[in-house]
Amino acid sequence: MLKDVLGKEGEKVFLLGNEAIARGAIESGIDIVSCYPGTPSSEITDTLAQACSHLRGKMDYFVEYSTNEKVAFETGIGASLAGKRALVTMKHVGLNVAADSLFSFAYVGARGGFVVVTADDPTMHSSQNEQDNRWYGKSAKLPVLEPSGVNEAKELVKVAFDLSERFGLPMIFRTYTRLSHSSGIVDLGEIPEKRFEKVGWERRPETDVVLPAHARKLKLVLLEKLEKIENHFDKFEFNWIEDGDGDTGIIACGLSYSYVKEAIENLRSKNDFDSPPVLKLSSMHPVPEKLIERFTDGLKKVLVVEEVDPFIEMHVKALDVEVLGKLSGDMPMNYEYNVPVVEMGIARVFGLEPSRDYEAIMNRELASIAPPRPPVLCPGCPHTATFYAIKKAGGEVLPSDIGCYTLGINKPLEAVDTTICMGASAGVANGLSYFVDGKIVATIGDSTFFHAGMPPLANAVYNNLNYTLIIMDNSTTGMTGHQPHPGTGIRACGEGRRVSLEDVVKGLGVEFVEVVNSYNVRKLIESIRRAIEHDGVAVVISRHPCAILWTRERKRKGIEVRAFEVAENCTVCMKCITDFTCPAIFVDDGKVGIDAALCVGCAVCASICPEKAIKPKGVGR
Ligand code: SF4
Ligand code: SF4
Repeated sequence: MLKDVLGKEGEKVFLLGNEAIARGAIESGIDIVSCYPGTPSSEITDTLAQACSHLRGKMDYFVEYSTNEKVAFETGIGASLAGKRALVTMKHVGLNVAADSLFSFAYVGARGGFVVVTADDPTMHSSQNEQDNRWYGKSAKLPVLEPSGVNEAKELVKVAFDLSERFGLPMIFRTYTRLSHSSGIVDLGEIPEKRFEKVGWERRPETDVVLPAHARKLKLVLLEKLEKIENHFDKFEFNWIEDGDGDTGIIACGLSYSYVKEAIENLRSKNDFDSPPVLKLSSMHPVPEKLIERFTDGLKKVLVVEEVDPFIEMHVKALDVEVLGKLSGDMPMNYEYNVPVVEMGIARVFGLEPSRDYEAIMNRELASIAPPRPPVLCPGCPHTATFYAIKKAGGEVLPSDIGCYTLGINKPLEAVDTTICMGASAGVANGLSYFVDGKIVATIGDSTFFHAGMPPLANAVYNNLNYTLIIMDNSTTGMTGHQPHPGTGIRACGEGRRVSLEDVVKGLGVEFVEVVNSYNVRKLIESIRRAIEHDGVAVVISRHPCAILWTRERKRKGIEVRAFEVAENCTVCMKCITDFTCPAIFVDDGKVGIDAALCVGCAVCASICPEKAIKPKGVGR
């Protein structure tokens, strides 16, 4: 909670991992935070955005929801080069977008502290892949830190800023879903006093311009910095060795350290088993080789417990010790870890009996849980109306994008044929339009369009391609918690200037541009038909606020939200179920009904019912 995040020095408060990171940034005296929201990272910047007005005049900092992660990263670079502290946050795949800047900024080096938080998503709870961003550290030659708990997350952010300035290196701070979204007790430190102040600009082209002659020298400087920080990590206070018995040790990385500790306690309750030696690691790259050698000296085997990829395991393999982990098959290669997974792995390696029969428990739990319910778009979601209209208008080839609207894949809409990454609906439509026989109608959200949809649309205009792009404009970034974007005209901490989607699209050279209210299904179908018939790239902006925000806004203004109901003249043709879908509509005992508690009164079902049997509650009975 914000009041806890803003608590006083010396207090102990219960915070979400992401809130702890936000508090760490505040205690670090950050000057700016920039991000593109992405689960599981979003609450970091959301918290800092809420906190900034409370801290204004005491600890000033800027907050920016950037158009995409590369822009966020570069905003942070600008601040760092001006000697200011920048926190940049994103989900793991966001770092792919920012990677171009990341690799070059590694050569330039940080001036003011620069920390990029990347939130990995093992098991892909809300992501298109399971990606381990420690590899970015190795590949870009940058340090990677990974906390082992919520309190440590806060402390490690402060350390990351200090190290960034001390070694002149941008720091990668890796978290992941279970850490970002778990809660723990946090010891609050001091919030520094700091006012906004402009600084003079000092030209340093020899470091800040990465033309080849400079870059060749800068690479050597980067390697030197990396060696120095590796030496530092060999004695780093967030890495430590815990003595134990036996000749098999455990290397526990980041949050896995907490799992390992709990798993050992569980195993000791069931087995005659002394705790093995444990190396707790929070610096992932450069790998602290001397520390690992000290730990493995005298051990015959070592089990590595780490999230996602066998990153440390592969490094330790070079040492003179048998290494167990993902590659040896002793720990699962895929999906996220937890205490049972880790306990079963340790039990296997040490020949112990797990404290519980986890497999039986999991099978029992699986058998007892309710049948799986696929996630659905919300009642009254404007995207549902748009997908319905696309199918009715004759859309046949349907590339889509990243956002709530990916749920349009489900029956009965089945209006999503491809989803690759941000902006790829328009990009894939480019390629499809060269070869595929069929009416291509691509869909993309408003925030996603600003993020990565503009370049592929410019490409379509430039290459005279022929497809329809529907920009589903619900005036927010819906999936990550309703953050604003340039099309909303709202900034993280106040008013901004609205960037008009239609002006941008026209400015890119698209000749067919129409804007339609998503809830006006008849007009939307007509507009999409015209767009499909248009010779060349055509854009339809289907616009209606996200149903959640729309309902919240009407309630705030005291406007009655009127539910709809099914009248007696319903012929049970089932069109509202088989062609359309809304979670508020149900079938009970062969009759169609509407759940008034869920219905937001959008009237779209009424407009698609051939019998005009759906009416506002209390009308037409
Ligand atoms: S579409 Fe209309 S008539 Fe058909 S089942 Fe639904 S409410 Fe009844
Ligand atoms: S009016 Fe119809 S489509 Fe809209 S929320 Fe209610 S039941 Fe769903």
